[in-house]
Amino acid sequence: MIEQTFVQLEDGIQRLTLPLPTGPKHVHCYLVDGTLFDTGLGLGDAPWGRLQVQRIAITHFHPDHVGGASVAGAVTGAAVYQGGLDYAQCERVWGSRDWPERMASWFRTHGVPAALTDELIEQGHAFAPFIRFARDPELLYEGSGLDDWQVIELPGHADGHLGFLREGVLIAGDHLLARISPAVGLYPESRPDPLGDYLASLERTIELAPRVVYPGHGEPIHDPPARARELIDHHRDRLDKTRAALGPEPRSAYDVSLVVFGAELGPTQRRFAVAETLSHLERLVREGHAARAGDDRAVTYTDSWLDDEIPPSTNAPGVGA
Ligand SMILES: [Zn+2]
Repeated sequence: MIEQTFVQLEDGIQRLTLPLPTGPKHVHCYLVDGTLFDTGLGLGDAPWGRLQVQRIAITHFHPDHVGGASVAGAVTGAAVYQGGLDYAQCERVWGSRDWPERMASWFRTHGVPAALTDELIEQGHAFAPFIRFARDPELLYEGSGLDDWQVIELPGHADGHLGFLREGVLIAGDHLLARISPAVGLYPESRPDPLGDYLASLERTIELAPRVVYPGHGEPIHDPPARARELIDHHRDRLDKTRAALGPEPRSAYDVSLVVFGAELGPTQRRFAVAETLSHLERLVREGHAARAGDDRAVTYTDSWLDDEIPPSTNAPGVGA
């Protein structure tokens, strides 16, 4: 397990790193001139009482970022600020008892076998008691100000993901990570085209051209536009792979995920793989390269070809021996 650390970085930024039991094994919180950005899971010890915190800002509602907000707010007396859409999802997802069932039934419509969705329900209920968030935060939107930080909506990794920009410094949560490609999945009751959102947020990052990004996991990113371009290329490549996994026969997102991500994944990883496959399939539908069919019991996808494209199975005139 990674130790809790507190280090002074450039730009007057103090970074508090807290351990996580899974995934990247750590999450960063940043304290800058009285503003605390993100708060960890909120399960272990955190030194909130020793910090000068005037306000707490949350980048997105995932438990490793929002989990400590309630305790940190109570200990420091600071108000918690969170994105408007982000908080709505926080309540809808973590605040409801039947979220695991809603998620599982939605995954079943996308072809995930019942044995797997049963396991997801069990897991969801096992984790639920450990998920924390702050009730009724102050809500932020694109263009809101927070002290002298500019609030920027950067949807993709989460629909209501926020970034905070000041003098070339972007506190970016999981919008941009140095070594990991942030997960971009489609989930029930979320925005319909999260990958389209994410690609637009990456383009926005290139335009804003911050000098440095401080991410939720891993080291600071010193050429954010270059990293944004890499991630755009990564998703373009995965869109091609996803499209290549489609054919004229209807396939579920689960079946496509077996081709794109391989068959050897445990339940949690498969959940991410299917959600990520769905975000790519829905982008392909919007780009005219895939077609969706079905209803609220079963959804499938086929490939689709634009007028100026030649399907691989067609014997186009003038082509061939
Ligand atoms: Zn995270």
